[in-house]
Amino acid sequence: MAVDPLIELRGVNKFYGQLHVLQDIDLTVGRGEVVVVIGPSGSGKSTLCRTMNRLETTQSGSILIDGSPLPEEGRALAKLRAEVGMVFQSFNLFAHKTVLANVSLAQIKVRGRKKEEADRRSRELLERVGLAAHADKFPAQMSGGQQQRVAIARALAMDPKALLFDEPTSALDPEMINEVLEVMRQLAREGMTMVVVTHEMGFARSAANRVVFMADGRIVEDRTPEAFFTAPESDRAKDFLSKIL
Ligand code: ADP
Ligand code: MG
Repeated sequence: MAVDPLIELRGVNKFYGQLHVLQDIDLTVGRGEVVVVIGPSGSGKSTLCRTMNRLETTQSGSILIDGSPLPEEGRALAKLRAEVGMVFQSFNLFAHKTVLANVSLAQIKVRGRKKEEADRRSRELLERVGLAAHADKFPAQMSGGQQQRVAIARALAMDPKALLFDEPTSALDPEMINEVLEVMRQLAREGMTMVVVTHEMGFARSAANRVVFMADGRIVEDRTPEAFFTAPESDRAKDFLSKIL
């Protein structure tokens, strides 16, 4: 497949003090691709995700988004963060704002939309994630799965080029996991470029174009889900899979 690169990391290294948390990372995410990142706890998955929209700085290497280097700061960085949206394990909604206001806020502040226009777009997106009837509720009145779908709608409201998900279902009760994964599967079908850190192997098998397996700050395998799950090459991946499958 000819890849049209949207996110490119070349020789990226990051340290926390003495800890070499990302080691010579080379990774290309093509437009429309879904890349699932898996690996043991502490292997650097969250750090990798966070470097892609500069929530973390790096010590060396280059990161290009749609052909442009990551901006250092200021308005250009805010714009980048809007273009590469992130969905976290803890939904990070504003507790004192309604669902509608949560989805509209950054549209007004970052995208400069008028409130009416932002609210219209928010209602469309809430409809898309199955929450049209909940626009006037507050986060605490909703289940975890519903709150995470609001967080996804909020990220989509920025018209992102790509979305990063860091364990989006790990904080959810089991019965709510699927409603969030279903929204993500739908986004994948619609061609959204996604990097997803998850322990949901069913999602990796069914929705990923590639599985990236990390261990100790390195990308150890980067292959199709079919190849990875049926015949992992590295001992680290074999060991990891034997523990979780
Ligand atoms: P994962 O998401 O795969 O569990 P992380 O990217 O969160 O891994 O962490 C990778 C390593 O970096 C771990 O050893 C973790 O303890 C360490 N680490 C993460 N964040 C920080 C930080 N802010 N300061 C120091 N060490 C950190
Ligand atoms: Mg993590």
